[in-house]
Amino acid sequence: MMAAGREYIPVIGLEVHAQLLTRTKMFCRCPAEFGAEPNTLVCPVCLGLPGALPSVNREAVSMAVRIGLALGCSIERESVFARKNYFYPDAPRNYQISMYDRPLCSGGSLLFEDGEEEVTVGLERIHLEEDAGKLLHGQGGHSLIDFNRCGVPLVEIVTLPVIRTPRHASLYLRRLRQILRYLEICDGNLEEGSLRVDVNISLREKGDETLGTRTEIKNLNSFKAVEAGLETEIERQRKELQAGEKIIQVTNLWDAKEKKLVLMRLKEGAHDYRYFPEPDLPVLIVDDDWITDEKAKIPELPLARERRFQREYGLSVYDAGVLAAESDIADYYEETIKLTGEPKITANWVMREVLRELKSGGGEIAGLRVRPERLADLIAIVLEGGITTSAGATVFAAMLDSDESAKDIVKRLGLELLSDEGELGTIVGAIIASHSDEVARYRGGKKELMKFFIGQVMKESGGKADPGIAGDILRKRLD
Ligand SMILES: [Zn+2]
Repeated sequence: MMAAGREYIPVIGLEVHAQLLTRTKMFCRCPAEFGAEPNTLVCPVCLGLPGALPSVNREAVSMAVRIGLALGCSIERESVFARKNYFYPDAPRNYQISMYDRPLCSGGSLLFEDGEEEVTVGLERIHLEEDAGKLLHGQGGHSLIDFNRCGVPLVEIVTLPVIRTPRHASLYLRRLRQILRYLEICDGNLEEGSLRVDVNISLREKGDETLGTRTEIKNLNSFKAVEAGLETEIERQRKELQAGEKIIQVTNLWDAKEKKLVLMRLKEGAHDYRYFPEPDLPVLIVDDDWITDEKAKIPELPLARERRFQREYGLSVYDAGVLAAESDIADYYEETIKLTGEPKITANWVMREVLRELKSGGGEIAGLRVRPERLADLIAIVLEGGITTSAGATVFAAMLDSDESAKDIVKRLGLELLSDEGELGTIVGAIIASHSDEVARYRGGKKELMKFFIGQVMKESGGKADPGIAGDILRKRLD
């Protein structure tokens, strides 16, 4: 039966695994570190040796509670760890300890903005589990296993199937990553796999509420990959459905290089894992005091901060979004404002100079030599009219490599604004003499050429001329 011309609506759900920044692993005291020699951070528990008993890492539970509270979930006072049985070389016990029918957090939602539109994505659950080991394939025809990652704590954050477009999926992820970083519970590194995204996707026919068969895409290690993978899969399903084909439940991998989906496996249903409550662990009890403690650790979250930046500092939506994206940059910005008292001008300096430097140098703001006090000093000199904005950028660049004060650098580089009428008069005289054409046109009524003359004065003075005084002199001589 041909079904061409029918309209289909994508139904997308996301499962995000976030590696928690705990000091030790989920069920043992091995360090949860990365980059160590393979198989050096292991013990009988995370190696799954017979008789070794797990115990729960309290800090991991605290972090999971915090993300749950930040996303408005209800925190279950009693939750249950469960065994997810599967046989694979990266899981030495042949099961993973996860949570199944009684997760730690349920419900909740995440809010983001798409232009003017506010979008709320409902969550199904958030639960704790442990990571598997790492397989290194193709080592001289062999595969090697590193168990260091085995047992590292993860939270899995699962949305309801309510996302409608690939773009919304990516906006959801960006916001979620920001929140995890604000809470300091995950570094959010998609490329290195500390934040991993799996998407579920099905199409339903317009006007029909029945969900279609869903497929899964794994290995989406950038926001771009999430959008591209989803777009490709939506198109594929649409074509199949329009050709009257049935969608088969599969798991695909996204090949970012070739920009195509690669079949990984036919998907097993949940029953294949034969979940049952973990007999080696008690019921996890989180009481009200614990929840109150975690609530107190939650800082102002990114969306709230963005909105406050718009309201309090008069920033545009875009500028507020850029400055509030990372809490350390937002802190830096606000510390600088306290000293300058000029939110908008300070925003320009942080976005133009500070963020450009961080982008080009790839560094963190904590390592930036120009601390808020030094930036505020520089901004003050520009505002007092001591130097031009472009000279200010030169001073900023010099401050990155020295502890010299902005004032001293201005002096050393000879960047003080040229406001001496005699000197400016000489420059203006020379420009009028060498641009007789433009002078004639200006005097003939083309007044907008004033900008050109001021530009020439700036050029002649090496960017140091005080544009106000230069303009006055020009007008006096030309009009
Ligand atoms: Zn261990």
